[in-house]
Amino acid sequence: MNTFSIAIHGGAGTLVKGMMTPELEAKYKAALQLALDAGYKVLENHGTATEAVEKAVVVLEDSPLFNAGKGSVFTATESHEMDASIMDGKTLNAGAVSLITGIKNPVRLARDVMEKSEHVFLAGAGAMQFAKELDYKLEDASYFYDELRHNQWLEIKDTDSFQLDHAKKKDSKFGTVGAVACDKDGNIAAATSTGGMTNKKWGRVGDSPMVGAGNYANNKTCAISCTGSGEFFIRGVVAYDVACLIEHKEMSLEAAANEVINKRILEIKGDGGLIAVDTKGNIAMPFNTEGMYRASKSSTGTEEVSIYK
Ligand code: ASP
Repeated sequence: MNTFSIAIHGGAGTLVKGMMTPELEAKYKAALQLALDAGYKVLENHGTATEAVEKAVVVLEDSPLFNAGKGSVFTATESHEMDASIMDGKTLNAGAVSLITGIKNPVRLARDVMEKSEHVFLAGAGAMQFAKELDYKLEDASYFYDELRHNQWLEIKDTDSFQLDHAKKKDSKFGTVGAVACDKDGNIAAATSTGGMTNKKWGRVGDSPMVGAGNYANNKTCAISCTGSGEFFIRGVVAYDVACLIEHKEMSLEAAANEVINKRILEIKGDGGLIAVDTKGNIAMPFNTEGMYRASKSSTGTEEVSIYK
């Protein structure tokens, strides 16, 4: 049997250490543990990597602590527009949705795009029509409301800045969620879900739903879920770049993930991190911000739930 493992993230760019209280830290860690356990259990019961990453991401989307599903950030028009994607490393099948509203678990809709449509990526009204045809129930705006997110938005509404500016204020807080897993059969998968950036305008789409930028899985190399300043992660084609370093330069998972996060993306001034697994169950979780909400567990017995370096 293959070593099986899972890693999850709840976003890079955490609250600066001084602002984090022990109570809040315990809350974040408990939420991460819940999602980790849910995904790991799927793997233990011989579920697929795709099922495990979906399950873990659903738990994170249901928590108001993270910027995905419930607790998504506000757009410039005080609404929520969510993006999500999922990819199966065995088949290279992928599904993604962008600019969706009212959907409790965007990652489920992304999986339905992968499995129940002929397409890979559905956006906006079309994605909502697809959800309607599958009888998705729509939540109203109050379900997604979170006071902290609303205050973050109030601070910058009517300006041209979006949440990237928070990075300068040193309280950058992205909060996208993601999971990568390697199952007992040695297949890998990745899923990512986000509300995007606070005060985003004009149908802005980040890296999270883009195959190869914020999310990628290929049994030949690795499964990756990213978090950080999406504009830079798109331009750096970050997730695929890690896979390329493994495939063409024969780097280890750890070395490739580090090279991209601590060198290449920094060179273009991007901040954030990623989680990665390969088909041997190895895990890497590099980030270049002060912290990244993250957790991992492997059948070899190692387990970690951390926020800061
Ligand atoms: N990468 C996400 C985006 O740009 C933000 C995040 O990671 O929180 O939409």
